[in-house]
Amino acid sequence: MNTVPVYMPYITSYFMPRHDGDRPAVVPEGSKNLAFIGNFAESPTRDTVFTTEYSVRTAMESVYTLLNVDRGVPEVWSSVYDIRELLRAMYYMSDKKKLADQEMPLPKKLAVKAGMKKIKGTWIEELLEEANLI
Ligand SMILES: Cc1cc2nc3c(=O)[nH]c(=O)nc-3n(C[C@H](O)[C@H](O)[C@H](O)COP(=O)(O)OP(=O)(O)OC[C@H]3O[C@@H](n4cnc5c(N)ncnc54)[C@H](O)[C@@H]3O)c2cc1C
Repeated sequence: MNTVPVYMPYITSYFMPRHDGDRPAVVPEGSKNLAFIGNFAESPTRDTVFTTEYSVRTAMESVYTLLNVDRGVPEVWSSVYDIRELLRAMYYMSDKKKLADQEMPLPKKLAVKAGMKKIKGTWIEELLEEANLI
């Protein structure tokens, strides 16, 4: 198989390392008629970049704020706090491998093995099964 690496600046730019203050706030402090929209504006909604949703949220946020519209911007689903989603992500990020087949140092492998015995018949085992990890 041939692999042709392609440089895609329009994608890469989204994921460049950044710090607080690198991106302007959607509605900068004190602004009455100026807002920044799109993936390069800082929204407090905990959204992730590289999505059309992010752009739409910033647009809603700017309009609602500047025009005092009493409406909330649709919430970002907090998958980061949902153990089921984290386990699912773990499965896909490890090329859909079961826990037992995942590469890890021997002590960790042994710990996983011992852990599996402890969780037998519990809902943790069910969650791991649901996520295809066992
Ligand atoms: C390759 C690629 C794949 C993607 N895949 C997905 C995906 O699967 N799902 C997803 O949700 N998101 C995806 N995205 C991200 C998504 O496409 C963008 O985040 C979204 O389109 C941004 O929308 P926007 O309206 O904020 O900005 P843009 O769509 O970039 O619109 C900005 C517009 O402003 C215009 N403009 C710029 N400067 C000026 C100027 N000075 N005067 C007048 N006009 C100007 C530009 O020409 C452009 O039309 C992808 C992006 C890329 C690059």
